[in-house]
Amino acid sequence: MELKTTENQRMIADMVRDFGAKHIKPKMMEWDESQEFPVEVFKKLGELGLMGVLVPTEYGGSGFGYLEYVTAIAELSKIDGSIGLSMAAHNSLCTGHILQFGNEEQKKKYLPKLATAEWIGAWGLTEPNTGSDAGNMRTVAVQDGDYWVINGAKNFITHGKSGNVAVVIVRTGEVGDSHGMTAFVIEKGTEGFSAGRKEDKLGMRASETTELIFQDCRVHKDQILGEVGEGFVQAMKVLDGGRISIAALSLGIAQGAFEAALAYSKERQQFNKPISSFQGIAFKLADMATEIEAASLLTYQAADMKNRGLNVNKESAMAKLYASEVSVRVANEGVQIFGGYGFTKDYPAEKYYRDAKLCTIGEGTSEIQKLVISRAMLK
Ligand SMILES: Cc1cc2nc3c(=O)[nH]c(=O)nc-3n(C[C@H](O)[C@H](O)[C@H](O)COP(=O)(O)OP(=O)(O)OC[C@H]3O[C@@H](n4cnc5c(N)ncnc54)[C@H](O)[C@@H]3O)c2cc1C
Repeated sequence: MELKTTENQRMIADMVRDFGAKHIKPKMMEWDESQEFPVEVFKKLGELGLMGVLVPTEYGGSGFGYLEYVTAIAELSKIDGSIGLSMAAHNSLCTGHILQFGNEEQKKKYLPKLATAEWIGAWGLTEPNTGSDAGNMRTVAVQDGDYWVINGAKNFITHGKSGNVAVVIVRTGEVGDSHGMTAFVIEKGTEGFSAGRKEDKLGMRASETTELIFQDCRVHKDQILGEVGEGFVQAMKVLDGGRISIAALSLGIAQGAFEAALAYSKERQQFNKPISSFQGIAFKLADMATEIEAASLLTYQAADMKNRGLNVNKESAMAKLYASEVSVRVANEGVQIFGGYGFTKDYPAEKYYRDAKLCTIGEGTSEIQKLVISRAMLK
C-alpha cells in the first residue's frame, strides 16, 4: 500500500493553516465561551472551496476526492474541532446526501449554493427518543395529493438554526420497516418548519446544535430525494462516507493535542530538567504518536478505498471507531502532560479534551461502530 501525500493535499493543508492562524485562532476561545457559530468564517471557508470539497466542479464545487477532504478536515480540526465538525456535517451529510441521491434538478438548485457556503446545510436523522436506533424514528410524513405533511421533531442537528436548507429523513411507512422512511430536502422559511432549542454543550461549542420542529409542514413531492421508502438506506450510505470525515476530525484533534503537549513537554522544567526528559512523559508521547499514526493509516485507507468506489461500510466504521477513541486518549494524556495548566483555559489542552469526546458519539457511537464492523464480518 502506498499513500503518498499529493500536491493538492499539501496545498490544502497550507491554505487551512494560514486561514486558521488568521481567522480562527484569534477568536476561537471567544466563540467557545459564548457558543457562537461563526457564520462569517464558514462563508469564508466556502470561498476557499472547503464547503464543497467533494462536489464536482460542474456544480460549483472543488471536485476533489476523499484524500483532500480528510486532509482539509484534519488540518482544520488541529486548530478548532468545532469548525472541523461543522465542515464535516455540511460537506458529508447535507451536501453529500443531495450529491448522492438528488435528481439533476435538485443538484443544480442546491449544490452550487452549498458548495460555496452561500447556503449552510443541515441533516436530520436523530430524534429525541431514537439516536442509535434511528430506524425507529417517529417523525412522520403523510401524503396529501402532491404534498406530504410532516409532524414531529429531530434533535442534535448541526446547523439546525443557521442552516438555509435541511435534508431530513422521516417515516412514510410502518415502524420497523427499513423501507418505511423517506428523505426530503426542505428550505428554511417553509411554513411549519422551525428550529427549536439550542444545546448547551461540553465541547464543540462553536458548532451549532439544535432541534428541528415540524408542525403540519407541507412539502411538495418534488422535495423527495430519490424514491419514497429509500430514506433510511440512503442515510446509512451517507454515514458510510460521513464516518471518514469524523475519523479525520478525530485525527486532527489528536494531532493538535499531541503537538501542543510535545512542545510544552520540552519547555516545562521540573527538577531542573524539561519534563520530556522523564521517561514517564516521553513514553506517553511515544504512545500518543504511535496511536495517531495508526489512526491516520486507517483513515486514509478508508478514504483511498472510497475514492476507488469500493464499499467502505466496515473500513469507515473501523477508522471512525479507532480514531475517535485515540482522540479521546491523546487529548486526555495531553491534559496530563500540561499538569495543572492543562486544566485551565490558558492552554489549548482542555479544549481538545472537551472537543474530542464528541467524536466517539456523533455519526454513531463507538458501540454502534462495533455493531457495524461485527455485522460486516459475521454476515
Ligand atoms: C454535537 C452533536 C452533533 C450532532 N449532529 C447531528 C446531526 O447533524 N444530525 C443528526 O441526525 N444527528 C446528529 N447528532 C446525533 C448523534 O448522531 C447521536 O447523538 C448519536 O447517534 C447517539 O444517539 P443518542 O444520543 O440518542 O444516544 P443513544 O442511542 O441513546 O445511546 C446511549 C448509549 O447507549 C449505547 N447504545 C445504544 N444502542 C446500543 C446497542 N445496540 N449496543 C450497545 N450500545 C448501545 C450508545 O452507544 C450510547 O453509549 C449529533 C450529536 C451531537 C452530540
